[in-house]
Amino acid sequence: MNDKLYVGRPNIGSREAFLARVNDIYDRRWLSNDGPYVLEFEATMSRLLGVKHCVAMCNATVGLEIAIRALGLTGEVILPSFTFIATAHALQWQQITPVFCDIDPLTHNIDPSKVEALITPRTTAILGVHLWGRACNVEALQKIADRHGLKLLFDAAHAFACSDNGRMIGGFGDAEVFSFHATKFINTLEGGIVSTNNDDLALRLRQMKNFGFTGYDQVESIGTNGKMNEVSAAMGLTNLESLDEFIAINRAHYHRYRERLADLPGLTVMPYDETWKCNFQYIVVDLDSEIAGISRDELVRRLHEQGVIARRYFFPGCHRMEPYLTLNPEAGGNLPETEKLVQRLFCLPTGSGVSVADLERVCDLIRGLVK
Ligand SMILES: *Cc1c(COP(=O)(O)O)cnc(C)c1O
Repeated sequence: MNDKLYVGRPNIGSREAFLARVNDIYDRRWLSNDGPYVLEFEATMSRLLGVKHCVAMCNATVGLEIAIRALGLTGEVILPSFTFIATAHALQWQQITPVFCDIDPLTHNIDPSKVEALITPRTTAILGVHLWGRACNVEALQKIADRHGLKLLFDAAHAFACSDNGRMIGGFGDAEVFSFHATKFINTLEGGIVSTNNDDLALRLRQMKNFGFTGYDQVESIGTNGKMNEVSAAMGLTNLESLDEFIAINRAHYHRYRERLADLPGLTVMPYDETWKCNFQYIVVDLDSEIAGISRDELVRRLHEQGVIARRYFFPGCHRMEPYLTLNPEAGGNLPETEKLVQRLFCLPTGSGVSVADLERVCDLIRGLVK
Protein backbone atom coordinates (compact mmCIF):
# COMPACT_ATOMS: atom_id res chain seq x y z
CA MET A 1 0.00 0.00 0.00
CA ASN A 2 2.77 2.43 0.87
CA ASP A 3 4.52 2.04 -2.46
CA LYS A 4 1.55 3.85 -3.96
CA LEU A 5 1.85 7.57 -4.40
CA TYR A 6 -1.02 9.23 -2.59
CA VAL A 7 -2.24 12.80 -2.63
CA GLY A 8 -1.83 13.87 0.97
CA ARG A 9 1.13 11.68 1.87
CA PRO A 10 2.11 13.25 5.21
CA ASN A 11 4.90 15.75 5.73
CA ILE A 12 6.73 14.57 8.81
CA GLY A 13 9.62 16.20 10.63
CA SER A 14 12.49 14.80 12.68
CA ARG A 15 11.85 11.38 14.25
CA GLU A 16 14.42 12.12 16.99
CA ALA A 17 12.86 15.45 17.93
CA PHE A 18 9.40 13.88 18.08
CA LEU A 19 10.53 10.90 20.17
CA ALA A 20 12.41 13.22 22.57
CA ARG A 21 9.16 15.08 23.15
CA VAL A 22 7.27 11.81 23.62
CA ASN A 23 9.85 10.87 26.27
CA ASP A 24 9.11 14.15 28.05
CA ILE A 25 5.42 13.32 27.95
CA TYR A 26 6.16 9.96 29.60
CA ASP A 27 8.23 11.64 32.29
CA ARG A 28 5.62 14.28 33.01
CA ARG A 29 2.60 11.94 32.82
CA TRP A 30 0.61 14.90 31.52
CA LEU A 31 -1.28 13.62 28.48
CA SER A 32 -4.10 16.06 27.84
CA ASN A 33 -6.03 19.08 29.26
CA ASP A 34 -3.84 22.06 28.34
CA GLY A 35 -0.54 20.27 28.84
CA PRO A 36 2.77 22.09 28.28
CA TYR A 37 3.08 21.04 24.63
CA VAL A 38 -0.45 22.10 23.77
CA LEU A 39 0.18 25.50 25.36
CA GLU A 40 3.49 25.81 23.51
CA PHE A 41 1.79 24.82 20.26
CA GLU A 42 -0.93 27.44 20.76
CA ALA A 43 1.62 30.15 21.59
CA THR A 44 3.75 29.25 18.56
CA MET A 45 0.70 29.36 16.31
CA SER A 46 -0.36 32.75 17.69
CA ARG A 47 3.08 34.11 16.91
CA LEU A 48 3.25 32.60 13.40
CA LEU A 49 -0.24 33.79 12.47
CA GLY A 50 -0.09 37.13 14.27
CA VAL A 51 -3.37 36.34 16.02
CA LYS A 52 -4.17 36.96 19.68
CA HIS A 53 -5.77 33.59 20.44
CA CYS A 54 -5.21 30.13 19.00
CA VAL A 55 -7.33 27.45 20.64
CA ALA A 56 -6.09 23.92 19.95
CA MET A 57 -8.71 21.33 19.04
CA CYS A 58 -8.81 17.57 18.45
CA ASN A 59 -9.53 18.20 14.74
CA ALA A 60 -10.82 20.95 12.47
CA THR A 61 -14.32 19.51 12.08
CA VAL A 62 -14.93 19.73 15.83
CA GLY A 63 -13.16 23.12 15.72
CA LEU A 64 -15.69 24.31 13.13
CA GLU A 65 -18.61 22.91 15.13
CA ILE A 66 -17.42 24.64 18.29
CA ALA A 67 -16.69 27.93 16.50
CA ILE A 68 -20.16 27.83 14.93
CA ARG A 69 -21.73 27.34 18.35
CA ALA A 70 -19.51 29.83 20.14
CA LEU A 71 -20.53 32.44 17.56
CA GLY A 72 -24.19 31.64 18.25
CA LEU A 73 -25.03 30.76 14.65
CA THR A 74 -28.48 29.44 13.84
CA GLY A 75 -30.84 29.21 10.85
CA GLU A 76 -28.86 29.38 7.60
CA VAL A 77 -25.21 29.90 6.80
CA ILE A 78 -23.84 30.69 3.33
CA LEU A 79 -20.81 28.68 2.19
CA PRO A 80 -19.36 27.23 -1.02
CA SER A 81 -20.33 23.73 -2.11
CA PHE A 82 -16.86 23.37 -3.60
CA THR A 83 -15.17 22.29 -0.35
CA PHE A 84 -14.54 19.22 1.75
CA ILE A 85 -17.80 17.81 3.11
CA ALA A 86 -16.84 18.65 6.73
CA THR A 87 -17.50 22.35 6.10
CA ALA A 88 -21.18 21.63 5.38
CA HIS A 89 -21.54 18.84 7.94
CA ALA A 90 -20.27 21.07 10.77
CA LEU A 91 -23.38 23.21 10.18
CA GLN A 92 -25.96 20.51 9.46
CA TRP A 93 -24.75 18.54 12.51
CA GLN A 94 -26.25 21.31 14.64
CA GLN A 95 -29.43 21.81 12.60
CA ILE A 96 -28.11 24.83 10.72
CA THR A 97 -28.94 24.79 7.00
CA PRO A 98 -25.92 25.13 4.72
CA VAL A 99 -26.85 27.40 1.79
CA PHE A 100 -24.47 26.75 -1.06
CA CYS A 101 -23.02 29.67 -2.99
CA ASP A 102 -21.24 29.44 -6.33
CA ILE A 103 -17.51 30.06 -6.73
CA ASP A 104 -15.32 32.31 -8.80
CA PRO A 105 -13.96 30.05 -11.57
CA LEU A 106 -10.55 31.76 -11.40
CA THR A 107 -9.90 31.56 -7.66
CA HIS A 108 -12.16 28.54 -6.89
CA ASN A 109 -13.30 30.47 -3.80
CA ILE A 110 -16.79 31.67 -2.84
CA ASP A 111 -17.91 34.44 -5.21
CA PRO A 112 -18.82 37.50 -3.09
CA SER A 113 -21.00 38.90 -5.89
CA LYS A 114 -23.32 35.90 -5.49
CA VAL A 115 -23.61 35.97 -1.71
CA GLU A 116 -26.15 38.73 -1.17
CA ALA A 117 -28.85 37.11 -3.29
CA LEU A 118 -28.76 34.14 -0.87
CA ILE A 119 -29.27 36.14 2.32
CA THR A 120 -32.65 35.60 3.99
CA PRO A 121 -34.04 36.65 7.40
CA ARG A 122 -32.72 33.31 8.73
CA THR A 123 -29.11 33.88 7.59
CA THR A 124 -26.65 34.34 10.47
CA ALA A 125 -23.23 33.99 8.86
CA ILE A 126 -20.98 33.54 5.87
CA LEU A 127 -18.50 30.68 6.03
CA GLY A 128 -15.71 31.15 3.48
CA VAL A 129 -13.13 28.49 2.61
CA HIS A 130 -9.59 29.53 1.64
CA LEU A 131 -9.26 26.79 -0.93
CA TRP A 132 -5.79 25.51 -1.84
CA GLY A 133 -4.43 28.07 0.65
CA ARG A 134 -5.57 30.98 -1.52
CA ALA A 135 -7.40 33.58 0.56
CA CYS A 136 -11.05 34.30 -0.16
CA ASN A 137 -11.91 37.86 -1.12
CA VAL A 138 -11.91 38.68 2.57
CA GLU A 139 -12.57 42.39 2.19
CA ALA A 140 -15.67 41.96 0.02
CA LEU A 141 -17.05 39.25 2.32
CA GLN A 142 -16.45 41.39 5.42
CA LYS A 143 -18.32 44.31 3.80
CA ILE A 144 -21.31 42.08 3.06
CA ALA A 145 -21.23 40.62 6.57
CA ASP A 146 -21.11 44.09 8.13
CA ARG A 147 -23.88 45.44 5.92
CA HIS A 148 -26.24 42.60 6.92
CA GLY A 149 -25.13 42.06 10.51
CA LEU A 150 -23.74 38.59 9.78
CA LYS A 151 -20.84 36.76 11.36
CA LEU A 152 -17.92 35.85 9.14
CA LEU A 153 -16.07 32.59 9.69
CA PHE A 154 -13.35 30.97 7.60
CA ASP A 155 -12.47 27.35 7.03
CA ALA A 156 -8.71 27.74 6.72
CA ALA A 157 -8.01 23.99 6.70
CA HIS A 158 -5.83 24.40 3.58
CA ALA A 159 -4.33 27.72 4.45
CA PHE A 160 -1.81 27.37 7.25
CA ALA A 161 1.31 29.50 6.55
CA CYS A 162 -0.42 31.38 3.73
CA SER A 163 -0.96 35.13 3.51
CA ASP A 164 -3.16 37.62 1.72
CA ASN A 165 -2.06 41.18 0.99
CA GLY A 166 0.79 40.78 3.44
CA ARG A 167 -1.45 39.58 6.28
CA MET A 168 -1.29 36.00 7.45
CA ILE A 169 -4.50 34.02 7.11
CA GLY A 170 -5.72 33.42 10.68
CA GLY A 171 -6.82 36.90 11.74
CA PHE A 172 -9.68 37.46 9.30
CA GLY A 173 -13.39 37.55 10.08
CA ASP A 174 -14.65 36.58 13.55
CA ALA A 175 -12.60 33.39 13.60
CA GLU A 176 -10.69 31.02 11.33
CA VAL A 177 -10.32 27.25 11.65
CA PHE A 178 -7.17 25.35 10.64
CA SER A 179 -6.77 21.61 10.20
CA PHE A 180 -3.67 19.67 11.16
CA HIS A 181 -4.94 16.35 9.88
CA ALA A 182 -2.28 13.91 8.63
CA THR A 183 -2.82 14.96 5.00
CA LYS A 184 -2.59 18.70 5.59
CA PHE A 185 0.54 20.81 5.06
CA ILE A 186 1.45 20.66 8.78
CA ASN A 187 -0.02 17.84 10.81
CA THR A 188 -0.53 17.00 14.48
CA LEU A 189 -1.61 13.43 13.48
CA GLU A 190 -5.17 14.71 13.97
CA GLY A 191 -5.84 18.23 15.17
CA GLY A 192 -6.80 21.79 14.49
CA ILE A 193 -6.96 25.27 15.91
CA VAL A 194 -9.50 28.05 15.99
CA SER A 195 -7.84 31.46 15.75
CA THR A 196 -9.44 34.75 16.72
CA ASN A 197 -8.60 38.24 17.97
CA ASN A 198 -11.81 38.33 20.02
CA ASP A 199 -11.16 37.75 23.76
CA ASP A 200 -14.74 36.82 24.65
CA LEU A 201 -15.01 34.39 21.77
CA ALA A 202 -11.69 32.77 22.73
CA LEU A 203 -12.95 32.22 26.27
CA ARG A 204 -16.17 30.62 25.00
CA LEU A 205 -14.16 28.38 22.64
CA ARG A 206 -11.96 27.26 25.53
CA GLN A 207 -14.92 26.45 27.73
CA MET A 208 -16.85 24.69 24.99
CA LYS A 209 -13.97 22.42 24.05
CA ASN A 210 -13.74 21.31 27.69
CA PHE A 211 -17.36 20.35 28.53
CA GLY A 212 -18.24 23.90 29.60
CA PHE A 213 -15.98 23.77 32.66
CA THR A 214 -15.07 27.13 34.15
CA GLY A 215 -13.29 25.74 37.22
CA TYR A 216 -13.07 22.63 39.37
CA ASP A 217 -16.52 20.99 39.58
CA GLN A 218 -17.98 24.08 37.94
CA VAL A 219 -19.85 23.88 34.63
CA GLU A 220 -21.53 27.03 33.35
CA SER A 221 -22.78 26.00 29.92
CA ILE A 222 -23.01 23.13 27.48
CA GLY A 223 -19.75 21.94 25.97
CA THR A 224 -18.17 19.00 24.26
CA ASN A 225 -14.75 17.38 24.16
CA GLY A 226 -12.62 19.14 21.57
CA LYS A 227 -9.28 18.99 23.34
CA MET A 228 -5.96 18.35 21.64
CA ASN A 229 -3.69 15.81 23.35
CA GLU A 230 0.00 16.18 24.17
CA VAL A 231 1.30 13.71 21.59
CA SER A 232 -0.50 15.62 18.85
CA ALA A 233 0.97 18.91 20.03
CA ALA A 234 4.43 17.28 20.20
CA MET A 235 4.00 16.16 16.59
CA GLY A 236 2.87 19.65 15.60
CA LEU A 237 5.81 21.39 17.30
CA THR A 238 8.20 18.92 15.68
CA ASN A 239 6.73 19.41 12.22
CA LEU A 240 6.80 23.19 12.60
CA GLU A 241 10.58 22.94 12.97
CA SER A 242 10.60 21.75 9.32
CA LEU A 243 8.14 24.37 8.08
CA ASP A 244 10.59 26.17 5.77
CA GLU A 245 11.90 22.87 4.41
CA PHE A 246 8.37 21.63 3.63
CA ILE A 247 7.54 24.88 1.84
CA ALA A 248 10.78 24.68 -0.17
CA ILE A 249 10.07 21.07 -1.21
CA ASN A 250 6.44 21.83 -2.11
CA ARG A 251 7.49 24.92 -4.05
CA ALA A 252 10.15 23.02 -6.01
CA HIS A 253 7.65 20.23 -6.80
CA TYR A 254 5.08 22.80 -7.92
CA HIS A 255 7.52 24.50 -10.28
CA ARG A 256 8.68 21.18 -11.67
CA TYR A 257 5.08 20.07 -12.36
CA ARG A 258 4.36 23.42 -14.02
CA GLU A 259 7.45 23.08 -16.18
CA ARG A 260 7.02 19.44 -17.19
CA LEU A 261 3.30 19.72 -17.98
CA ALA A 262 3.31 23.23 -19.45
CA ASP A 263 3.05 22.24 -23.11
CA LEU A 264 0.25 19.69 -22.75
CA PRO A 265 -2.90 20.79 -24.58
CA GLY A 266 -5.96 21.32 -22.40
CA LEU A 267 -4.06 20.74 -19.17
CA THR A 268 -3.15 23.50 -16.71
CA VAL A 269 -1.43 23.21 -13.36
CA MET A 270 -3.13 25.90 -11.29
CA PRO A 271 -0.75 28.81 -10.66
CA TYR A 272 -0.09 30.20 -7.19
CA ASP A 273 0.37 33.93 -6.71
CA GLU A 274 3.83 34.03 -5.19
CA THR A 275 3.50 37.69 -4.21
CA TRP A 276 1.89 36.25 -1.09
CA LYS A 277 3.01 33.42 1.18
CA CYS A 278 1.86 29.99 -0.04
CA ASN A 279 2.33 26.48 1.31
CA PHE A 280 2.05 24.98 -2.21
CA GLN A 281 0.38 21.92 -0.68
CA TYR A 282 -2.03 21.32 -3.56
CA ILE A 283 -1.00 20.57 -7.13
CA VAL A 284 -4.35 21.32 -8.74
CA VAL A 285 -4.79 20.33 -12.36
CA ASP A 286 -7.55 21.67 -14.60
CA LEU A 287 -8.28 19.40 -17.55
CA ASP A 288 -10.26 20.38 -20.61
CA SER A 289 -10.97 16.85 -21.84
CA GLU A 290 -12.03 17.91 -25.36
CA ILE A 291 -8.65 19.47 -26.01
CA ALA A 292 -6.63 16.96 -23.98
CA GLY A 293 -8.23 14.02 -25.79
CA ILE A 294 -8.89 12.13 -22.55
CA SER A 295 -11.54 12.61 -19.90
CA ARG A 296 -10.56 13.67 -16.40
CA ASP A 297 -11.99 10.47 -14.93
CA GLU A 298 -10.19 8.27 -17.44
CA LEU A 299 -6.91 10.06 -16.77
CA VAL A 300 -7.33 9.63 -13.00
CA ARG A 301 -8.28 5.95 -13.49
CA ARG A 302 -5.20 5.28 -15.61
CA LEU A 303 -2.97 7.00 -13.03
CA HIS A 304 -4.49 4.83 -10.27
CA GLU A 305 -3.67 1.74 -12.32
CA GLN A 306 -0.04 2.82 -12.19
CA GLY A 307 -0.13 3.36 -8.43
CA VAL A 308 -0.49 7.15 -8.64
CA ILE A 309 -3.49 7.94 -6.48
CA ALA A 310 -4.51 11.29 -7.96
CA ARG A 311 -7.74 12.64 -6.44
CA ARG A 312 -10.73 14.39 -7.90
CA TYR A 313 -11.34 17.48 -5.72
CA PHE A 314 -14.07 18.09 -4.56
CA PHE A 315 -16.07 15.59 -6.47
CA PRO A 316 -19.06 15.62 -6.80
CA GLY A 317 -19.50 18.78 -4.67
CA CYS A 318 -21.21 18.92 -1.27
CA HIS A 319 -24.61 19.68 -2.83
CA ARG A 320 -24.50 16.31 -4.60
CA MET A 321 -23.75 14.40 -1.40
CA GLU A 322 -26.23 13.37 1.29
CA PRO A 323 -28.09 14.67 3.13
CA TYR A 324 -27.83 17.84 1.00
CA LEU A 325 -28.88 16.24 -2.29
CA THR A 326 -32.16 15.00 -0.82
CA LEU A 327 -32.77 18.22 1.11
CA ASN A 328 -32.28 20.35 -2.00
CA PRO A 329 -32.03 18.31 -5.23
CA GLU A 330 -32.13 21.49 -7.35
CA ALA A 331 -29.16 23.21 -5.68
CA GLY A 332 -26.92 22.58 -8.68
CA GLY A 333 -29.00 24.96 -10.79
CA ASN A 334 -27.57 27.86 -8.76
CA LEU A 335 -24.01 26.57 -8.93
CA PRO A 336 -22.96 26.55 -12.59
CA GLU A 337 -19.26 27.25 -11.96
CA THR A 338 -19.09 24.63 -9.21
CA GLU A 339 -20.78 22.07 -11.46
CA LYS A 340 -18.22 22.73 -14.20
CA LEU A 341 -15.20 22.66 -11.94
CA VAL A 342 -16.03 19.38 -10.17
CA GLN A 343 -15.83 17.72 -13.61
CA ARG A 344 -12.45 19.23 -14.50
CA LEU A 345 -10.13 19.29 -11.49
CA PHE A 346 -7.87 16.75 -9.89
CA CYS A 347 -4.88 16.89 -7.56
CA LEU A 348 -1.45 15.27 -7.91
CA PRO A 349 0.83 13.96 -5.17
CA THR A 350 3.34 16.34 -3.63
CA GLY A 351 5.05 17.00 -0.30
CA SER A 352 8.14 15.73 1.43
CA GLY A 353 6.94 12.12 0.98
CA VAL A 354 7.25 12.46 -2.81
CA SER A 355 10.71 12.25 -4.35
CA VAL A 356 11.88 14.04 -7.47
CA ALA A 357 12.02 10.63 -9.21
CA ASP A 358 8.38 9.94 -8.19
CA LEU A 359 7.36 13.29 -9.57
CA GLU A 360 9.15 12.71 -12.89
CA ARG A 361 7.35 9.37 -13.17
CA VAL A 362 3.97 11.00 -12.58
CA CYS A 363 4.77 13.60 -15.26
CA ASP A 364 5.92 10.92 -17.72
CA LEU A 365 2.66 9.02 -17.14
CA ILE A 366 0.55 12.10 -17.74
CA ARG A 367 2.53 13.04 -20.82
CA GLY A 368 1.82 9.57 -22.19
CA LEU A 369 -1.93 9.92 -21.60
CA VAL A 370 -2.62 13.42 -22.89
CA LYS A 371 -2.28 13.72 -26.63
C1 LIG B 1 -9.45 18.61 5.97
C2 LIG B 1 -10.52 19.60 5.88
C3 LIG B 1 -11.46 19.76 6.91
C4 LIG B 1 -11.54 18.84 8.09
O1 LIG B 1 -10.41 18.83 8.88
P1 LIG B 1 -10.22 17.68 9.98
O2 LIG B 1 -9.08 18.19 10.81
O3 LIG B 1 -9.87 16.43 9.24
O4 LIG B 1 -11.46 17.54 10.76
C5 LIG B 1 -12.39 20.77 6.80
N1 LIG B 1 -12.42 21.57 5.72
C6 LIG B 1 -11.56 21.45 4.70
C7 LIG B 1 -11.64 22.38 3.54
C8 LIG B 1 -10.59 20.43 4.73
O5 LIG B 1 -9.77 20.28 3.70
